[in-house]
Amino acid sequence: MIYPWQASAWESIRRMRHSHRLHHALLFTGENGCGNEDFIHAMAAALLCSEPDAAGHACGHCRNCQVFAGQAHPDYLFVGLQEERQSILIEQIRELNHFLGLSRSYSSRRVAVISPADRMNINAANSLLKSLEEPADGTHILLLTAHPASLLPTIRSRCQLVRLPLPEHTAALAWLQTHALQHPAPALLETAHGRPLAALELDSTDMLTNRNQWFQHLLQMVQGDGNITGVSAHWEKFDKSLLLDWQLECLLGAIKREASADPVLSRLQHGIAAKNLWNMHEKLLELKQLATHPLNPRLYVESMLMLWQVRH
Ligand SMILES: [Zn+2]
Repeated sequence: MIYPWQASAWESIRRMRHSHRLHHALLFTGENGCGNEDFIHAMAAALLCSEPDAAGHACGHCRNCQVFAGQAHPDYLFVGLQEERQSILIEQIRELNHFLGLSRSYSSRRVAVISPADRMNINAANSLLKSLEEPADGTHILLLTAHPASLLPTIRSRCQLVRLPLPEHTAALAWLQTHALQHPAPALLETAHGRPLAALELDSTDMLTNRNQWFQHLLQMVQGDGNITGVSAHWEKFDKSLLLDWQLECLLGAIKREASADPVLSRLQHGIAAKNLWNMHEKLLELKQLATHPLNPRLYVESMLMLWQVRH
């Protein structure tokens, strides 16, 4: 399946396919948390399907579709990170090269997916070049990455680029609101930086509750209702990097004059004197560099809180 914000990317591929202009190697780029893996999956299914519908989607009932749905299609290969590995290895790409050279079984095509493509190590990437340069007939290689700049330029230049977009705010919100959520959809989307599937995943965690509580504590302290020792004692065992990321986001919102929809955050943002914004930002970044060091955790949280107290 594809998501509403992917419809125009899908349509442009359908048109290319219809007019036989579809490149054999497609490099899809787009941010994580936007359903791009699902798009690639739908694309692979559509390429293998014997009778795709008018909109270019897999029919869902032909033999190819059934075998693909059963994760047993002999003309499909997925290359990803193996368990506990940080990179895609040359052996995996050799297997892919071999696979692409085999004769086809069910479908008139062979489809290989590489995701996340930026994780191919240098040997793996070099090994892929040959398949990109001299493709066997009827083969498609679909690469997906959120970090296209990390790929070898020689890989990028041999692929047709397809940008999968970050959805418009209203489209992302509308989609998110079709789900039964524990937290308010706008707050989830804001915390997930506008990425709808990441927002949905966030809903099943305590992260938003924690984030709200942190900012609530910060506001109380700034307004003189909470003491710094009590607040730092509450948060000293929490992930400090995350606390700093939340504060940095809040400050960046103020710097860009994009006040948060959340009233607590918005009050915090308005309380900072404009001349102090960058200074605070810099100080928080300095603290972040220490986030993994074994400092006294309570004092460490206190030093974040003190920045908010002297912000005028
Ligand atoms: Zn089908």
